[in-house]
Amino acid sequence: MKCPACLSPKLVQRTRNLPYTYNGETTDIPKVSGQYCSACGESVLDATEAARVSAAMLEFNKQVDTAKGKAIATRHTSRKVTPELPELSDDMLARAVLKRGSDARQTRALKR
Ligand SMILES: [Zn+2]
Repeated sequence: MKCPACLSPKLVQRTRNLPYTYNGETTDIPKVSGQYCSACGESVLDATEAARVSAAMLEFNKQVDTAKGKAIATRHTSRKVTPELPELSDDMLARAVLKRGSDARQTRALKR
């Protein structure tokens, strides 16, 4: 079997942690079994592992979105706070997030 990315024949069956990056945050998806290309690092997974990995990725995406949503709220509040305006309302935070991007999940997280 050849690597689908670089066509190197150097695929090795291994179990390793698969690094995954989303939105600037990195995680390791633990113990992913599959064929790994020793030339370029591409991984070729069977259907079961691929499904598990994509579920783990989606879960991580959610965590990152939630964390970023909180970070945006915190940052926004601390930057905009003045002695005259100690706190922004939830409504203002929600609108600030809407302006930043169209990620509805972030908006829901903030409104909760
Ligand atoms: Zn490769």
